[in-house]
Amino acid sequence: MTTGNRTSMIAASAILVHRRTLQEQVTIAYAETVPKTVTVDFSAAPSFRAVCDFVASSAVPGESDETDVDAVVRFAPDGSVDGDPAELVRLRALITDGVAHPDRPVSELRLTTGDDLAWLETVSGDERPPRPARCVHDVFADHAAATPDAVAISCAGRTLTYRDLHERAAGLAAALHGAGARPGEVVAVFGRRSPELVTGLLAILRAGCAYLALDPDDPPARHELLLRDAQAAVLLVDPAMAAPAGFTGAVVPWNARADQPVDVEVTPDHLAYVSYTSGSTGVPKGVAVPHRAISRLVVAPNWIEVVPGDVVLESAPVAFDASTVEIWTALLNGARLAILPPGPVELDRLADAVRAENVTVLLLTTGLFHHMVTAQLDCFKEVRHVLTGGDVVSPRHVKTLLDAHPHLVFTNGYGPTENTSFTTCWTIRAPLTGGSVPIGPVVSGTTLAILDPRLHPVPVGVCGEMYAGGEGVATGYLGRPKETAARFVPDPFSRRAGARMYRTGDLARWLPDGTVEFVGRIDTQVKVRGHRVEPGELEAELARRPEVAQAVVVAQPDASNGHRLLTYVVPAGPGDHAGLGARLRDRVARTLPSYLVPWAVLVVDELPLTRNGKVDRRALPAVTRSPRVLASEYVAPDTALETSVAEIWGELLGVEPVGIDDDFFELGGHSLLAADLLGIVRRRFGIDVAARTLYLGPTVRELAAAMGAEVPS
Ligand code: ADP
Repeated sequence: MTTGNRTSMIAASAILVHRRTLQEQVTIAYAETVPKTVTVDFSAAPSFRAVCDFVASSAVPGESDETDVDAVVRFAPDGSVDGDPAELVRLRALITDGVAHPDRPVSELRLTTGDDLAWLETVSGDERPPRPARCVHDVFADHAAATPDAVAISCAGRTLTYRDLHERAAGLAAALHGAGARPGEVVAVFGRRSPELVTGLLAILRAGCAYLALDPDDPPARHELLLRDAQAAVLLVDPAMAAPAGFTGAVVPWNARADQPVDVEVTPDHLAYVSYTSGSTGVPKGVAVPHRAISRLVVAPNWIEVVPGDVVLESAPVAFDASTVEIWTALLNGARLAILPPGPVELDRLADAVRAENVTVLLLTTGLFHHMVTAQLDCFKEVRHVLTGGDVVSPRHVKTLLDAHPHLVFTNGYGPTENTSFTTCWTIRAPLTGGSVPIGPVVSGTTLAILDPRLHPVPVGVCGEMYAGGEGVATGYLGRPKETAARFVPDPFSRRAGARMYRTGDLARWLPDGTVEFVGRIDTQVKVRGHRVEPGELEAELARRPEVAQAVVVAQPDASNGHRLLTYVVPAGPGDHAGLGARLRDRVARTLPSYLVPWAVLVVDELPLTRNGKVDRRALPAVTRSPRVLASEYVAPDTALETSVAEIWGELLGVEPVGIDDDFFELGGHSLLAADLLGIVRRRFGIDVAARTLYLGPTVRELAAAMGAEVPS
């Protein structure tokens, strides 16, 4: 082997380590006449040629302790390389592509061998679901005909049978049709979790329309924006609630009924729902999901077994795609859907509902899952299958759960809304032994490709971006052809003409057993309280304000193992900027949902820049405590107990100072932080305060009074 070949082999070894670990610095040890090491820096995305040149010129002699290096290349006396033959084949594939394309960034070099491609075929899933796609309401109707007296929905002591639900939905579908709702149109629904809401969804589908669930807790400006963006034809409302103002279409109360049966043709390609997610350009995007995508998820699924007799809890907001799993997994498999009555998701209330409803299948978003395992481990006793998803799950919590309840089946589900709730699901039926919780294999009717930036598949162990294909792929973003074309791209691996795959923006790697390990995001998207947030959406909203010249949003870990949004703004023009941060936060809260309202808005003179002129997010001033942002005057705590309570709030919420009449939720508290607060009170003072007490009396004064009234346990 020539020196050039040796150099390529060392460069290729470094590149392979980098592609597996995404490490910016990779150190390789090797021996020529004397032992040498070389450390390659990948931070500036070098080309193959640049890495080879660097290796040739920069190796330093010296014995290395092999534990300090990332890989060792062992050259035999004849110049050949010793090592795992499969690994050598891969390194040669890399060198061949590097030599052919010396100026390509190393992240774009092809690494797969023929064996790799054959193996990937076996793990990347099947785009055809086990059963042909059907409309959601048709599958439901079959169950209603087969088991009319089975209970379909239960909620706070009320029940509806499959027959009841079927008939009510038929009557409401007729009323919607009578009000002008036509196949292919969007019908918005405004109301809280209830049997009537689920009846409404089914009725909308029977009328051939797609539902758009509005979250009643969002500000009116948000409702208006979504109704307009989705061009909702009809608004279905809870008659007990004041419907969003300004809607010009027909408004139908959800108890309306008509007799004339609806006779419309609906196919699995018709849209079933629209679910809005955060958009980086400042406007939310409506993901348009057809019936076939839901059918592929819940009809004869390979990731869950749900049978008549099972009870699935509905606790997610219906505006959220986790509800797709809960509602349709239950109702399209003959099971009972137990609806958690509306109200904040308090841990003890949730645990009570799981027990009272005899829930057997329980899906909890990741943040909630962690909290329930910590605070309500006992409630999983009678559950058969626990699923979580939405964010990176902690192996420690999974282990705690499975050690306490070895009978449980546990699933970690992964997937963007654009591929209809779940793309991959990892299920375990034994104690967790390893240190990580994978996300996959792929679910039925779905394909997964992990690709490099040139859309070449990457072999096992190498990081790439996940692309999801198959029948779960959404139709696109409603009314946004450009954004749709950017994220829903032609699927070169499909056998179907015109098939598309969704580019997730998530990094992952295949594991040798064919499962998938989640690695992280390519961009700055984060999860805040289970909601997907593009910092760009908040940045754009702030930049629209005349008093703001520039805004940057970063995510910070919060005290509840989640994220909170921290905003830096540069004011437009000179002047007195006192109170600007609080005013902006207040302003944003009037238009955006609560998870997009920043924890703090900091006013700065300028933003630090990187050498190429971009905002240097790493150099932004660190902030762990935000100044108090409420409009009401600060009143100091009085007693020792009030002072302690205010201090705990300050720690948890990262706010100072905390006044005696400040509202926990107005200061940025939410249900998971409320659970943490009550946990701290229990541990530090031995006092059990019910979550309801905090919700009814959310100030320092009221909580301290409630604690004072309790006898320490
Ligand atoms: P979901 O309802 O699954 O939260 P979203 O569309 O709101 O759907 O968010 C999807 C994103 O959430 C994914 O692209 C990924 O970044 C993250 N995500 C979802 N599930 C998981 C998981 N199990 N592990 C890690 N990240 C996840």
